[in-house]
Amino acid sequence: MIPFNLPPRTGREDHHVLAAMNSTKISGDGEYGQKCQAWFEQQLGCHKTLLTPSCTQALEMAALLIDIQPGDEVIMPSYTFVSTANAFVLRGATIVFVDIRPDTMNINEELIEAAITSKTKAIVPVHYAGVACNMQVICDIAERLQLFVIEDAAQAVMSTLEGKRLGSFGHLAAFSFHETKNFSSGGEGGLLVINDERFAQRAEIIREKGTNRSQFFRGMVDKYTWVDRGSSYLPSELQAAYLWAQLEQANEITNNRLHSWSTYWQGLSDLAERGFITMPQVPDNCQHNAHMYYILLPNLERRTAVISQLKEQGVQSVFHYIPLHSAPAGQRYARAHGDLAVTNDTSDRLLRLPLWVGMEEVHRDVLRALRTALEAGH
Ligand SMILES: *Cc1c(COP(=O)(O)O)cnc(C)c1O
Repeated sequence: MIPFNLPPRTGREDHHVLAAMNSTKISGDGEYGQKCQAWFEQQLGCHKTLLTPSCTQALEMAALLIDIQPGDEVIMPSYTFVSTANAFVLRGATIVFVDIRPDTMNINEELIEAAITSKTKAIVPVHYAGVACNMQVICDIAERLQLFVIEDAAQAVMSTLEGKRLGSFGHLAAFSFHETKNFSSGGEGGLLVINDERFAQRAEIIREKGTNRSQFFRGMVDKYTWVDRGSSYLPSELQAAYLWAQLEQANEITNNRLHSWSTYWQGLSDLAERGFITMPQVPDNCQHNAHMYYILLPNLERRTAVISQLKEQGVQSVFHYIPLHSAPAGQRYARAHGDLAVTNDTSDRLLRLPLWVGMEEVHRDVLRALRTALEAGH
């Protein structure tokens, strides 16, 4: 079976993880942790970054930092992973879903303003497939109405909008290093990006169980004490070492994925022209990171058939997401603004194809199987 995903592996993970194991500090913020954070701070040109055990936890930290209170409203797309919502729900927020754009599957920036009420505290754009949301419009609305912007950039490491890295637009942003993402820290991991420096000091405290341990280690305070609310949001040094091996080859990983993405684009363009599928669209001002290659099929029945025909030919393909507003979780803690027609329609038709570093050897087989599956149903 050609898998849908293989975790990225550069070959240098063994070396760095072993080096971390042999060092005297294997808890969080050791040498590797600091190297990774400095790398991202330089890449993003941001004030501060903090590694976390997952993107979910980076989003949870964001919810704590903007001080979400019960009753606050947070605007986001329904077409996302459940953590985007849960991070805020855990602090008592009500989630308000706004529909997506049919071209990028990203939140429709033109529908946001009408969903804002006196209780709205934040907007959480999700850069689906590593393609940027319209951050100019979203940040303008937020500035004008004094809302926070938290980017869920889980899928968007290395992507840019107008040449500026995703993750550098919001007050805060979160990346994921889960094994299904472009870069992994050994299976699970994440990063909180702090663009608004007002949050920097408290973020360190919240991440260190509510203590001022980070400042203490830097010699900035002479007493290590309990100062605020907090939890444990540090990954171990072993995870950072694994991630470092991947950051050393960040461009190679991204270029390899982009090559696979283009192979799909070229290999499927005639099928798109003949109306069998709809291709993903990338706006001109976006450079994406080839996180995902998806196609849209005419309807749910066709998608189900194509998945099973691909499977018969030894190719694994997957769909996601059940829109949150139509799932039990969303019904407990959220409301929809408008009919979410695009979300309902496209989520039934979207199919994700295998995309992983080093898949060039099997690409032809995947394309052949897909062509067979699509033409079979026509
Ligand atoms: C993967 C993902 C997450 C969660 O990331 P974890 O690191 O697994 O917590 C959150 N949001 C989006 C959009 C994702 O794709």
